[in-house]
Amino acid sequence: MLGLMQNQPLLISSLIDFAERHHGDGEIVSRRVEGDLHRYTWRDVARRARQVANGLDGWGLAFSDRVATLAWNGYRHLELYFGVSGSGRVLHTINPRLHPEQIAWIVNHAEDQVLCFESSFLPLVQAVHAKCPTVKRWVMLCAADRLPADTGIPGLLSYDAWVDAQSADYIWPQFDENSASSMCYTSGTTGNPKGALYSHRSTVLHAYAAALPDVMGLSARDSVLPVVPMFHVNAWGIPYSAALTGCKLVFPGPALDGKSVYELLEAEKVTYAAGVPTVWQMLLQHMKPAGLKFSTLKRTVIGGSACPPAMIDAFREDYGVEVLHAWGMTEMSPLGTLCTLKNKHLVLPKEEQMKILLKQGRAIYGVDMKIVGADGTDLPFDGKAAGDLLVRGPWIVAEYFKGEGGDPLVRDAQGRAWFPTGDVATIDADGFMQITDRSKDVIKSGGEWISSIDIENIAVAHPAVAMAACIGVFHPKWDERPIVVVVKKPGAEVGRDELLKFYEGKTAKWQIPDDVVFVDAIPLGATGKMLKTRLREQLKDYRLP
Ligand code: ADP
Repeated sequence: MLGLMQNQPLLISSLIDFAERHHGDGEIVSRRVEGDLHRYTWRDVARRARQVANGLDGWGLAFSDRVATLAWNGYRHLELYFGVSGSGRVLHTINPRLHPEQIAWIVNHAEDQVLCFESSFLPLVQAVHAKCPTVKRWVMLCAADRLPADTGIPGLLSYDAWVDAQSADYIWPQFDENSASSMCYTSGTTGNPKGALYSHRSTVLHAYAAALPDVMGLSARDSVLPVVPMFHVNAWGIPYSAALTGCKLVFPGPALDGKSVYELLEAEKVTYAAGVPTVWQMLLQHMKPAGLKFSTLKRTVIGGSACPPAMIDAFREDYGVEVLHAWGMTEMSPLGTLCTLKNKHLVLPKEEQMKILLKQGRAIYGVDMKIVGADGTDLPFDGKAAGDLLVRGPWIVAEYFKGEGGDPLVRDAQGRAWFPTGDVATIDADGFMQITDRSKDVIKSGGEWISSIDIENIAVAHPAVAMAACIGVFHPKWDERPIVVVVKKPGAEVGRDELLKFYEGKTAKWQIPDDVVFVDAIPLGATGKMLKTRLREQLKDYRLP
């Protein structure tokens, strides 16, 4: 017997409809590339999202066609979030920090039909547009009078002119909630970037979960500043949870330095902010010497990389701001765990509480997780046994776009499918997960991935290099930076600077290793694979120059 409740699909359009009806005058404030502050309301977002939808219909874009963005956090990007997905197309947010070659590869793989870009990325788009044959429409996120002439980009349009020309009357289509809504490529695994393809259902469920008190805890009383980029896993889902709760949104645009972020936090009475540790490091470094304080900020979500203890301490003790340590992945929409204390922990001394708060946190309802040993058997939740962390749930990938990389899931004895995260962790008896290592061969610098394989491939393309291993080493600002460990060919010569110069133009500047360490041999395993754990151990006293 089926239940007798209304069967309404969970669609992203329902989020913006809700925000318009119930929080229509809620504010959206954006620092723009143009340098000024733009303000309007949820009502305006909803109207312009409908205009976007009409514009896409007018171009004859089919259901599930991809519309790409190369954009910062701002109101125009937000309109595209709802207008593109709401009308049944797929919003493909691209990371502008990637190398132009990688961007072109991703655009082609996704078969993007439209590409909307921030005016500050014009040179980038000029460099790649000829390599992106699937893109039929190029749209610059700017007013009509700011559209430059003679860009060389065929048919380039001003976003504002395009949107303003559309009717604001639009009835959002109803369709299967499992339809694709947005996508984001991750290079957090080996091989080519892989596309995580989110659905309306996964996105709405994730938005609900994210808003819970022990998760992000967002409400209509909050003023929220997502520093985490909208091109990185939908800014951790904040735009959707914001529409669902009706909170005020404050977008930083491209200005992520400590001074700009601080000024925005204060001016817009931000109560809640979210970002990677590197951004908060810059903020604290700006505040401390000047003796600045927060007047409204209460909570900040810090994730994407492990949050250093000193940072949690500084926020809590010096500024009275609660830190919510979070862990997630692009493949998980992204939220997996958040670290908030349970009732019984409230009586513990501060130092004991701190030990818990440093962990990556407890699973959110909707994320089932476990740790397994090398043979796949379940390990106990005792806070001691460390194993591969596996997850399953309705907002976790089942496969990558176009089946890239094969079947990513592993199956347990009951036939249940789990996604291996590539993280190694412990889980304690209270369910708090702590990452202890990473089994995937990648480096995360300032919240962005660097593929160690790409770095190694470039090194071995140099005629004097016999073997190269790229590993991450601790860096106080970027959390991790890559170095490349090199064995030279017999009789061949190459110096550190020459090899680092060899990287120029072959990968994004920030992905070039910080140093080269020459060694006689790299430790190898039985199958000839480089043993990076051993190599990291050998270089444990190494410090960056
Ligand atoms: P995001 O940066 O949004 O977390 P990514 O897919 O880029 O998503 O990266 C996911 C990976 O980043 C995780 O598998 C883990 O290795 C690392 N990571 C994310 N959050 C944390 C955290 N709080 N502590 C340690 N590592 C983290």
